This record gives sequence, C-alpha cells and structure tokens, in this order.
Amino acid sequence: MVPANDFHRQWSETSGDVLDAVRAVGESGWYVLGREVEAFESELGEFWGLDHVVGVASGLDALELSLRALGCKAGDRVLTSPISAFATVLAIVRLDAVPVFADCDDTGLVDLDACRRILEDDGSIRYFVPVHLFGQALDLEDLRELKARFSLTVVEDCAQSIGASSRGLATGTIGDAAATSFYPTKNLGALGDGGAVLTRSREVADSLRVLRDYGQARKYRHTTLGYNSRLDELHAAIMRRAHLPRLRGWVDARRHVADTYRREIGSPHLRVVPGPPGSSSSCHLFPVQVLPEHKADALAFLRDRGIGVAEHYPLPQNEQEALGQVAWRGDTPRAAAFCRSEISLPIHPYMTSAEVRQVIEVCNSWRP
Ligand SMILES: *Cc1c(COP(=O)(O)O)cnc(C)c1O
Repeated sequence: MVPANDFHRQWSETSGDVLDAVRAVGESGWYVLGREVEAFESELGEFWGLDHVVGVASGLDALELSLRALGCKAGDRVLTSPISAFATVLAIVRLDAVPVFADCDDTGLVDLDACRRILEDDGSIRYFVPVHLFGQALDLEDLRELKARFSLTVVEDCAQSIGASSRGLATGTIGDAAATSFYPTKNLGALGDGGAVLTRSREVADSLRVLRDYGQARKYRHTTLGYNSRLDELHAAIMRRAHLPRLRGWVDARRHVADTYRREIGSPHLRVVPGPPGSSSSCHLFPVQVLPEHKADALAFLRDRGIGVAEHYPLPQNEQEALGQVAWRGDTPRAAAFCRSEISLPIHPYMTSAEVRQVIEVCNSWRP
C-alpha cells in the first residue's frame, strides 16, 4: 500500500526530538500560553517573513478570528473560493457574514478574473478569503491589484501553502492576515490540532491575542467576547523543536515527488492539474483529473492496486448540505465540474522512490 501520508515513518525520524520537546514542557510546569508558544510564534514569523504570529487552536479559528479582528461582522459579504476545506466557509458563516463564491479556473483555485467581475457588480463586498489550494500560490501581483482596486480586506487561507510563493513572494504576505493550520496532514503539522495567524500589523496581532484568550486584555479584564482558542505549549514545542527545523527539507521532498510525477505521468486519460503562472507550490497535494464519468472507476482501479488516493474535494463548499441553512451567493459550475473530476495522488516527505514509481506505473496503466 502507498499511503497518502506516512506518520509512522515521520515518527521514527522525529520521535527523539518530539520526546525531548514533551519533556521540556513537562518539566517547565507551564502548559498554556507560555514561552514555548512565544518562541514558536517568533521562529515561524522568521521562517515566513512576517512580523507578528499568533498561535490559535486550529486553522478554522485562525480564519474566523482574523476576519473578526479585521472588523468583519454579521451581514458583511465575503468573497471566497468554492473549492476548499469546509473550514474556509465555516469561518465566514460563524460570524454571520455572507459568503460569496467566485468560480475556479482550470487550476481549481479561485479565478481572480471572475473575482474582479463580481467585485465590479457588487460594490458592497469588502472582504476576500482567497485559498492557496493544494499548496499552489495564487498570483500575488493580481491579488495585490485586486485588493487595492476594490479596497478589500484580505485574509489569505494558507493552510495548505506553508512554503509556497508566487514569483518569489511568499503566500500570506499580500493580505492583511494569513491563516494557517497545523492539522497533522498539513506541511507543518502538529500531533493534533493547531493553527496560527500571521500579519504585519501589530494592532491586528494584539486584537488576536485578546480574542484567543476569552477576550481578556489583561487577566480577568474582558474587553470583548472572545474565544478559547489557544495553541498548546506542547504543540508549539513539538513544532518548533522537531518539525519546523525539518520543514524546508519536507517541502523539498514533496517537490521532488511532484517533479517526478509531472515528468513521468504521461497518460492521455489523466490530466495533471497545473498551478497558476508563477506559482512555486508547497506541494501539499497533487491533484489530477479524469473525466467525471470515469472517476469512480479510476479511484477503484488505483485503490485496488495499493495507491492511497483521496479527493480534494468531492463537493464544492457551496454544495454542502449545511450551507442550505445560510444565505450565500454565487454560481460556480466550473468548480462543480472540477470536483467531479479530481483525484489526489499520494504525496508526502517520506515517500520512497519505489512508491513514487508504483504510483506512476499504476496511473499510466489505467484505461477508462
Ligand atoms: C485544513 C484547512 C483548513 C482548516 O484547518 P483546521 O486546522 O483543520 O481547522 C482551512 N483551510 C484549508 C484550505 C485547509 O486545508
């Protein structure tokens, strides 16, 4: 079996450092919002090139708290991508804001031209949550222009894009805030849940620190109705001591797998999904497409031959049953078609070349 992720191999390489991190936190006697979180925030900021980092409990919280810190409130319209983890839209609707979906292009990422048309038609949209899906970077120059032209407040969803850049600019550096996730499968995963917001603005970072801790500006002085959304010392320590130092190497290893796939998958029945021009992907996922009518057969064929394929995502966010309960706007036929055709091949830093070879051979031998 070629798994989609291999945490056993990761653990056999990292366990020494992880256990040292656990011991350090245990011995410190301080388990929530202490030195480890601070040190991790500062090192992640250095890695990313952003001044302020605020650790929170999940990627979903990173998105919701960022939007709230940036003033998004009930009834505000928030433009976003139809294809993403459901957390993206959930963050918007949890604030009682109204999601507006722009269609995707042939990369599966949100189409910035479609966004421009929607923004021209509806001058009331002030927020945008673009998703750097699969680890591919949206064109950040286009994003910057869109932000300026329509005075948008932008929260970049970077849950999949740690390590990705667009023509040398890191994802997350154009928006007012970048939200990321440390869910275990992400490029920088914890051994559990976690997330962070990165921003250039001290003010936004300060409000996030208040929001994540019950809305207290200082101990027992609550200035706003906040959340319990704190990153654990334990996870901060594990990521800083064991995972962050390996992150560049992990992204390189993912890129090596992706490059090999791109070079050697040559089936006429299978489209390797390209990234936007100028994107240097973090290779979080490796999507390919087949004709929608062949997808079930292709998935079964690949699985029967031991390939741990997945789908990102089988349904766009705006077709999820839960969204039937809230107001939203947008018509996204291309996203619907993309989801019906997408298959994610295994990609992770611990894949062996024999596994990569097996995936390529099985892909190239599939016939509809
Ligand atoms: C994983 C993910 C999230 C949510 O992160 P959690 O930590 O699971 O809450 C949000 N957006 C995208 C694009 C993701 O992949």
